[in-house]
Amino acid sequence: SYERMLKIRKQNLSPSLNMYYKKPLLLHQGHMQWLFDYEGRRYLDLFAGIVTVNVGHCHPKVTAAAQKQLGRLWHTTNIYMHPSIQEYVEKLTALLPDPLKVVYLTNSGSEANDLAMFMARVYTHNFDLICFRGGYHGASPYTLGLTSIGSYKHGVANGFGCQTTMLPDVFRGIWGGSHCRDSLVQTIRKCSCSQGCCEANDRYIEQFKDTLSTCVPKAIAGFIAEPIQGVNGAIQYPKRFLKEAFQLVRERGGVCIADEVQTGFGRTGSHFWGFQTHGVVPDIVTMAKGIGNGFPMAAVVTTPEIANSLAQNLHFNTFGGNPMACVVGSAVLDAIAEDGLQKNSEEVGAYMLLEFAKLREKFEIIGDVRGRGLMIGIEMVKNKDSRQPLPDEEMSPIWEDCKDMGVLIGRGGIYNQTFRVKPPLCITKQDAAFAVEVFHAALMRHLE
Ligand code: PMP
Repeated sequence: SYERMLKIRKQNLSPSLNMYYKKPLLLHQGHMQWLFDYEGRRYLDLFAGIVTVNVGHCHPKVTAAAQKQLGRLWHTTNIYMHPSIQEYVEKLTALLPDPLKVVYLTNSGSEANDLAMFMARVYTHNFDLICFRGGYHGASPYTLGLTSIGSYKHGVANGFGCQTTMLPDVFRGIWGGSHCRDSLVQTIRKCSCSQGCCEANDRYIEQFKDTLSTCVPKAIAGFIAEPIQGVNGAIQYPKRFLKEAFQLVRERGGVCIADEVQTGFGRTGSHFWGFQTHGVVPDIVTMAKGIGNGFPMAAVVTTPEIANSLAQNLHFNTFGGNPMACVVGSAVLDAIAEDGLQKNSEEVGAYMLLEFAKLREKFEIIGDVRGRGLMIGIEMVKNKDSRQPLPDEEMSPIWEDCKDMGVLIGRGGIYNQTFRVKPPLCITKQDAAFAVEVFHAALMRHLE
């Protein structure tokens, strides 16, 4: 029964796991963009298992590929070859620009970023890493030094590992976070041409240079950024910012890492990878979440030159690149292409952005609507003048009402003040219209 499930969850599962909703959902089934609870109620999933189920829940093609492999071979470890790993990395690297051609298969986004940090340090023989405030890069002791949103650190300065790995040398970047009061996005949206963007860009580049100058000159190992900040609520950078930042980091001997854990695999619509929207080619790309549509897998892709710097010694993990993961990952790539999901993300995403922006005009408590493709943030404020974050007592009822009307939305941002709309990429325009209608109804109820 529901009560028994809740009791076990509370008694035998980590108390530091966050559960959504006053009455947490007990889910039984998923089909594409839909989830079904134990009472058979249907929900439109606008959060996709935290931006992961990109091709849809139990996508028939991915399910069939997994089922076929289940009866054939699960695991060998990389000490032997199996065709699925070769087939997969060939397919994956075909989607990346030169010279990003060497793949390391891992099991989670945190593990991928751990490896990327390690690679940057081994390759450059430097130590300092630069990241942005408001960024999320993982919850492992190593990556916690880079993650700077939420309370994941448990009061331990830079994550546990920093005590031994000396991670305090990780520098906080300049990113102000999603608080509307100093949200850069506001500046960009207000300008009718690219002028405002240029002005904001210059300001932020100056701050970025300041951050760099606090590192020992020429001693930077790397710089990591999400092409759009995910957990922070779809925070975007000025147009030229990442390109200029990459150049500054490279001039100082560092490598550039794109964390594509959320933005990869067509999520941003116009491009397959988020970094492509900035006109840059990173030295290292990390990916997880959408890569396996929910199957635990992740990857780091880098250049032969960086990979060779690690070749002197063994680098190993047991599960990475197992046949199950490779077959699932391969079917996911096929599904994205065959179902036209990147294009759908672009089209339905543009439609949703427009519709939510109309609501922004109508409701004083919507401070900002932003994003790209199906990676949308709706930042809620007390009112447009103060730009103070909408307190949880007011956020939560809107969010609960959406759930009760059959739409599941994510939350994020430094003050948990941003609704995150990141559905499976197979969502239709009709579903999107339904979602907007429900959100509208929940906002109207808030006014009552
Ligand atoms: N990078 C980004 C951008 C993420 O959003 C996340 C997960 N929220 C991670 C890394 C860490 O991934 P995982 O939870 O699979 O370790």
